Order: sequence, then C-alpha cells, then structure tokens
Amino acid sequence: MPGTEQVEQILAEALAAVNAASSLSDLDAIDVKYLARKGAITSVLKSLKDLPLEERKAVGAAANSARIKLEETISAAKSRFQQAGIISTFDPTLPGIARRIGAIHPITRVIDSMCETFRGMGFTIAKGPDIETDYYNFEALNFPPDHPARDMQDTFYLENGLLLRTHTTPVQVRELEKSKPPVKIITPGRTYRNEAISTRSYCVFHQVDGFLVDEGVTMGDLKGVLVAFCRDFYGEGLKLRFRPSFFPFTEPSAEVDISCFLCGGKGCQLCKYEGWLEILGCGMIDPNVLKNVGYDSEKYTGFAFGIGVERTAMLKYRINDIRLFYENDIRFIRQFK
Ligand SMILES: [Zn+2]
Repeated sequence: MPGTEQVEQILAEALAAVNAASSLSDLDAIDVKYLARKGAITSVLKSLKDLPLEERKAVGAAANSARIKLEETISAAKSRFQQAGIISTFDPTLPGIARRIGAIHPITRVIDSMCETFRGMGFTIAKGPDIETDYYNFEALNFPPDHPARDMQDTFYLENGLLLRTHTTPVQVRELEKSKPPVKIITPGRTYRNEAISTRSYCVFHQVDGFLVDEGVTMGDLKGVLVAFCRDFYGEGLKLRFRPSFFPFTEPSAEVDISCFLCGGKGCQLCKYEGWLEILGCGMIDPNVLKNVGYDSEKYTGFAFGIGVERTAMLKYRINDIRLFYENDIRFIRQFK
C-alpha cells in the first residue's frame, strides 16, 4: 500500500526527470509516465479506496498536491522549450514573408483609364441602375414597341416586366431628364445581353457611353472629342475612320475604326490583315430622344458614343478569349499593368 513517503519519492523522481528533460517529447513522456491514466501518481490516487480512512486522507492530499506540482512544473518547462524554439528559429536577417495581394482587374483598369481621359476633357461621370424599365432602355431611346432594332439586343426580361439593361445609354436619358444644357457626361457600367457565350461574346459586359448636349453641337465636335480620346488612350499617330452605321438613338450614326496600333495599318493578325480596328459606335443624338426628355430639339443638339470595354481591353492587352475576364483567376489578372 502506498504511503506519503512513497508519494514524495515518486514526485522527487518525476521532478528530477523534468529537470533532465531536453525536449518537448521528453516532457510528454514524463507526463504519460506519472500523470496519464496508468501513470504512477494516478495509480496512487486510484488505490486510495483500499487504505484506512486516516491514511487515505494524508496520502490523498499528498498525491493531489504532487499531481498539481508536477503538472505545473511540466507546463512551465514546456513553455520554456517553446520559447527557446521560437528564438532559435527566428533569424532577423532572413527576408520577410511576402503576403499575396490582389491586383486591379484589366476591365477596371480600362474603365479607369477611359474615365481619366474623358475627365480631362471636362466630362463628368454618372451611373444608373442595372435593372431598367422598357421605357429607359428602349422607348425613350427611340426604339418604339415592335421596332426591329430591339432584336439587335437580345434582352434578359425579368418576371415583373423590368429588364437587365442592354446598354448604358438609359443613363443618358435619366441624366438629361434632370439636367439643363450644357450636359457633358460619361456613363461607365455593366450591361447584359442574352448571347451565346463564346470566345468573343459573353452575357455580361461593360460599356463606357458618353454624350454632350448644348446649343450648336455638331458632328465636328464629336470627331474632335473622339480623335482626342483615341490619341490619348491608344497613342499618338493613329488614323481614325468613320463609317456610316445605324443606331435608333442617333442620326446620323457612325462606327469608328482606328488604324491598327500593332502593325501601323500594314495588316497583322490583330487587325485580321485589314489594317483597321473597330473600336466604337457614335452619332448625333436623334431629335426624338431630345424631345422625350423635354428639350427643344430645334435649339439643342448633341452627340453620343458608346465604347465596349471588353473589346477595348482585348485589343489593348491582346487577350483572345473574353471568358478569361470573368473567371477571376489571379494569375490572369496579375499580368496587366
Ligand atoms: Zn494590324
């Protein structure tokens, strides 16, 4: 039967072992040998029930205080080892751990850069809702109901009769409604069309639209602004070409090509050996649109243009698959400066 002397002896032996321990695993072994379920001190505590009452009290108290003393000693020794371990592995001369940080998405880069260029020409920036009414997306922009031009824009209709805007031009209507000329605004934003997804088209894309309305605004002003934009955005020495086109909300309408910035117009893979790159659509705002927002279309004229951001980014960074923009693979996004 164990007595208090025996308990003291076990404790002394255990403390000596802790003193002699040279690693965390030595301390774990001591823990197992004395304190675990079959450990020496635990065994003493378990055998108390066989002792006479008086002895049971004395031995029990001794065994309990031995257990506490040993637990504290092991724990203190462990933290000394851990501390020492950290100190011995910390080398202040080594380079720090570089945290992985994100990158600005190429679409955001292109939008920011376009906004910067137009801000330099005095345009302000306006935004509008992604979910639009038929009126703002179509009717106010001179797309009457059943007009075939509506089919050019495969629209996502919502159950409540609203729709996902197919262009950012509705913001033009919203802004004109609440302003007085002169109005000079660009409207960057996200647009949606129910198109088959491929390397060239996606159901979500971005536009930067712009417009200017004032007395005496002409096609010459439109050309001046677009030439200044292209030179600033794509570089000096570019040629611009205006081709007649059709949009319901502009009359006359044009599409603008720039001479290929890669081959200088000689012909290459980027421009499909044509020497020109199509970059935007534009025109003089149709008098019907101005009437719809309550402007005197005899007195005021204006121009509007719309630039596809994905297409611009694909040309600028030579990206051959539009879907890469939406996968958010950081390795892709990091490549652009
Ligand atoms: Zn080319």
